[in-house]
Amino acid sequence: MLDRAFQGGVDQLIAIGSGYGVAGNADAIAMAESDARIYAAVGVHPHEASELDDLTRERIRSWLGHDRVVALGECGLDYHYMNSPRETQRAVFAEQIALARELDMPVSIHVRGDEPNAYDELLEIWIDEGQRGLEGVLHCYTGTLDFARRAMDEGFMVSFSGIVTFKASRELRDVARGIPLDRLMVETDAPFLAPQGHRGRRNEPLWVSVVGETLAELHDCPAETLAETTSRNARRLFRMPG
Ligand SMILES: [Zn+2]
Repeated sequence: MLDRAFQGGVDQLIAIGSGYGVAGNADAIAMAESDARIYAAVGVHPHEASELDDLTRERIRSWLGHDRVVALGECGLDYHYMNSPRETQRAVFAEQIALARELDMPVSIHVRGDEPNAYDELLEIWIDEGQRGLEGVLHCYTGTLDFARRAMDEGFMVSFSGIVTFKASRELRDVARGIPLDRLMVETDAPFLAPQGHRGRRNEPLWVSVVGETLAELHDCPAETLAETTSRNARRLFRMPG
């Protein structure tokens, strides 16, 4: 899978450690250690917010100090699945934003649930705890253009996944058209959300190109321009070498 990605034009990728239980973050670091083109993000996903205790807190902090870890995340709020209680999600998210500020690290945000609730609460915590000194990305964005604009004012990039390529995602394509190129990023969110043409299969990094091609059409620019711009944006945010 990685060979296909690297041979197909993917130069660098970030393995997301959160979402498989807090201990699963170690697997992303192991992947990053195995190849200089792979980096890792480490965090406590809202689904697993209930797992955070003093021991995992210590582990997260030490993982974030690893030189291949470029972001804290995914963290955020998910009121759609509600796998952890809302108050726990809020507290664990707030704690991680404070930690990101302390460590001066960019943040990858997962937000899902009714807009405005999850979204407004997320931005409120981001501002309270980040004190406007942080940058981050709204990963796999599916919210409104109005919220994206408020978030961009608070230091966010906006990243789209395979969802933007789905036939039914007309409204989301309108949102993507409204995000300026210098704030735009692409991702797979693999193994989920394989793009149009590959739906129903395990997603993989190579297919990020399908997301990029869709965004290039929406922005009326060549796919190469979109690829170069989103790569530059990601390297800047995550402070990765070119
Ligand atoms: Zn997510």
